[in-house]
Amino acid sequence: MRHEPYWWDDAPIGASTDDALPARVDVAVIGAGYSGLSAALTVARGGRSVAVLEAGQPGVGASSRNGGMCSEVLKPSFATLSKRYGRDHALALIKEAREAFDFLPTFLEEEGIDCNYVHSGGFTGALKQAQYDAMARETEALGRTTGLDAVMIPKAELRDEVGTDLYVGGRLMHRRGGLHPAKYHAGLLARARANGAAVIGNCAVTGLERDPSGFRLTTARGTVTARDVVVATNGYTGAVTPALRRRVIPVTSYMIATAPLSPNLMATLMPRGRMLTDSNRLLCYFRPSPDNTRVLFGGRPAYTDIGPVEAARRLQSYMTTVFPELAGVELSHSWSGFIAYTFDRLPHVGFRDGVHYAMGYCGSGVVMSTWLGRKAGLRVLDKPEAKSAFADIEHPTNPLYFGKPWFLPLVQAWYQGADMIGR
Ligand SMILES: Cc1cc2nc3c(=O)[nH]c(=O)nc-3n(C[C@H](O)[C@H](O)[C@H](O)COP(=O)(O)OP(=O)(O)OC[C@H]3O[C@@H](n4cnc5c(N)ncnc54)[C@H](O)[C@@H]3O)c2cc1C
Repeated sequence: MRHEPYWWDDAPIGASTDDALPARVDVAVIGAGYSGLSAALTVARGGRSVAVLEAGQPGVGASSRNGGMCSEVLKPSFATLSKRYGRDHALALIKEAREAFDFLPTFLEEEGIDCNYVHSGGFTGALKQAQYDAMARETEALGRTTGLDAVMIPKAELRDEVGTDLYVGGRLMHRRGGLHPAKYHAGLLARARANGAAVIGNCAVTGLERDPSGFRLTTARGTVTARDVVVATNGYTGAVTPALRRRVIPVTSYMIATAPLSPNLMATLMPRGRMLTDSNRLLCYFRPSPDNTRVLFGGRPAYTDIGPVEAARRLQSYMTTVFPELAGVELSHSWSGFIAYTFDRLPHVGFRDGVHYAMGYCGSGVVMSTWLGRKAGLRVLDKPEAKSAFADIEHPTNPLYFGKPWFLPLVQAWYQGADMIGR
């Protein structure tokens, strides 16, 4: 079993550190994932000189490691959002997340990025009848108020969606898609470079100071000054931006890939090629590989670092609960990466301590990092299209949090308890 992403077999990261560090640029972007590259492409097209500074190889963060599942869904419910921000702003957030979902395939087509994007639809299995009933009530209410395009699938039709008897039924969301995340990252990197962005790997930013012309960034490869800075470090946000570090909570997400399976077995397990999740709080997600030969299964079996071997064991155990046919099937890959949670469970784009930023996607960043990275770039350019409902909300922290998430074991225990009783 290899301890690196399955995706790197087709789209290896690396060999991308050759751009030289300029002495001065209009815009310095910290982090070369989807957020940073999307911001860089936008400002480069706006006529600004830009350097993307990346601590490792471009793509080494979550953007070449994720499940490639694309959705329009925000974590908090419509009721929670309405209570917090009022009904109109709640609708604005939901509408913008939907716009972001629609934007991605159009963007891929316009940029000529071939990354196996499919508009697959997605299915969430309900483990308990009470969860199914709650999902059904919510689906009906959201269809009416927000136009959610989803239908409930009863137990009798479950196996048309997913080959398991574990669920009592579930919800089919039509507006879901999937892509090959590392191919997407490689395509975005190529587009940013082709439009003039320098993308410099092995170039960790270790210092960020204001200077009369903007900012002075100290890096592992020298110093660069920039008028504007965009921070795009998400789950890898560190001490260089302490105020942002206090606003994102790094959580490890793990994935495994099975060895190739027979076409018949794949057709039984995932008959429609949907993106799949279930109703547990300790989230798991699974999907077919783009060539439909393997099951890719992810989740957060622990909120602390348990390493790829133990993570694979736990994920495999849950995978075989969903699909008993996979007991004893060999795993080819096990890997992990950091996502960034926020205290309000929403992504954010904004301006703090003089720097622009986009981050906090709470594990659903393929769509939103592309979108909010672009918004951050548009904000640098001061364009009217920079407006975003996600910029107009407070980005909270917690007075007891300074970047080390000491409370995650407690959250995990609470989620485990809630999952056990099906709340
Ligand atoms: C295992 C896994 C599965 C996931 N599955 C899904 C999914 O199916 N669907 C979905 O929507 N989302 C998923 N996600 C989340 C998604 O991958 C992220 O939200 C998204 O990639 C964030 O992109 P980003 O550019 O903001 O951050 P990243 O891609 O993480 O990039 C941040 C970069 O910043 C760099 N950096 C940090 N500090 C510095 C510094 N000081 N100097 C220079 N560089 C620095 C890091 O090295 C890193 O490369 C998953 C994530 C993981 C880990």
